[in-house]
Amino acid sequence: MGKRMIRVEKLVKTVPSGDGQLNILKGIDLEINTSQSAAIVGPSGSGKSTLLGLLAGLDTPTSGDVFLDGQSLAAMTEDQRAALRARSVGFVFQSFQLLPSLTALENVMLPLELAGRRSPRQRAQQLLKDLELDHRQHHYPRLLSGGEQQRVAIARAFASEPAILFADEPTGNLDVNTGAHISDLLFRLNREQGTTLVLVTHEQALADHCERAFEMRDGELCELAVAR
Ligand code: ADP
Ligand code: MG
Repeated sequence: MGKRMIRVEKLVKTVPSGDGQLNILKGIDLEINTSQSAAIVGPSGSGKSTLLGLLAGLDTPTSGDVFLDGQSLAAMTEDQRAALRARSVGFVFQSFQLLPSLTALENVMLPLELAGRRSPRQRAQQLLKDLELDHRQHHYPRLLSGGEQQRVAIARAFASEPAILFADEPTGNLDVNTGAHISDLLFRLNREQGTTLVLVTHEQALADHCERAFEMRDGELCELAVAR
């Protein structure tokens, strides 16, 4: 039995909608161990991205709580959550979210600098090299292909060796071959760094790679049996 890395208790997210309320998440319970990989699948609009944002402490729930490595996000101030994110959490989004005015190398260096890590340039260069991007390190994002941008985003997410990586449809905008390469990278880094991986995906192949799989339907999450 591994150690619990993520624990979610009765998580509810309700937002105002017209003259009523929209119940996006209806009481989610979830536990994921250190170094596990988990996929969340489900129809568009079912609440997957909302859940990921709450797990990462980017958004706050209406009720319930998220514990990352035993620490309650609800008990923290916004500054404390930001510090925890910088220390322990990485994200990869479908839309890359690279900073357009920074080169690939600078985008990867940024979280290292923010975290006060030693030799940020060397580490960022090594990561880009690992992702076969060393020849692109001084290019700006707009000069890179979608697959290259996503690899830079992954290098950035892994730069500070987060204990947990959240990825929201990380292969969603990519062609099949590039998407397969990205998913290989995610699982390689998961194996090599012991990173706990939580992926939202539409791709069955990506979900099949994960040790655990969950389906979101209408704001409720259920665990799927994984064939081995
Ligand atoms: P998924 O990622 O599964 O496609 P989302 O979590 O993005 O789903 O959204 C779930 C539902 O909640 C959608 O109907 C979406 O329009 C709605 N929604 C998400 N965030 C907000 C918000 N801040 N205000 C109002 N509605 C929202
Ligand atoms: Mg989504």
